Amino acid sequence: MSFEKFELNEKILTGVQACGYKVPTPIQLQSIPPIMAGRDVMGLAQTGTGKTAAFVLPILQRLMQGPRGHIRALIVAPTRELSEQTHTAIMQLGRKTQLRSVSIYGGVNINGQINKLQNHVEIISACPGRLLDHIQQKNLDLSSTEIFVLDEADQMLDLGFIKPIRQIVTRLPARRQNLFFSATMPSEIGKLAGELLKDPVKVQVTPQATTVD
Ligand code: AMP
Repeated sequence: MSFEKFELNEKILTGVQACGYKVPTPIQLQSIPPIMAGRDVMGLAQTGTGKTAAFVLPILQRLMQGPRGHIRALIVAPTRELSEQTHTAIMQLGRKTQLRSVSIYGGVNINGQINKLQNHVEIISACPGRLLDHIQQKNLDLSSTEIFVLDEADQMLDLGFIKPIRQIVTRLPARRQNLFFSATMPSEIGKLAGELLKDPVKVQVTPQATTVD
């Protein structure tokens, strides 16, 4: 099967081709249709499976319609590398869409991020700590977020980010689409998924045997 079957916008397909993707990976095949249909998705998938494009492509598709100039998609990731990697994937796959994205993480001067936020972005790829700093400083408004992605949720647990995530979620509108990706499903992450996701479609590309509790 090719990417054309997903009926993505032509501008997004141009990005897919520019990235050299010919055939969707299994996580993309399983996730893209339900995400495009607006469903919440719980994905058990590790890095290297193509999970980033599995959520980035439907996000780009959704944001092609509707207003621009405010935050409509929030992706929260545990590390600055992952946050930056996701931002890069958005820039590459969405190169023709004119949608704007910014990555937000600690350890760098906050002012550069504030300037980028003032340019009215539609997508944010953030680490929890610095995102909370921006929320507290009122540098951004998450009240119009339509899609919330929690990436590498099990690593969030390892790094002590569960409480910050709960704080971030209180800033999001109740009516939103939630996408949750994790390589493993420890019980605390299962509990968080149960709280955040509404009737999720479950997709999995790693064998159940790798689940850690
Ligand atoms: P990820 O699991 O999202 O970190 O992706 C792992 C790598 O696979 C990245 O370098 C992606 O650019 C690449 N990738 C994602 N989807 C595809 C695809 N359908 N075909 C070829 N490479 C892909």
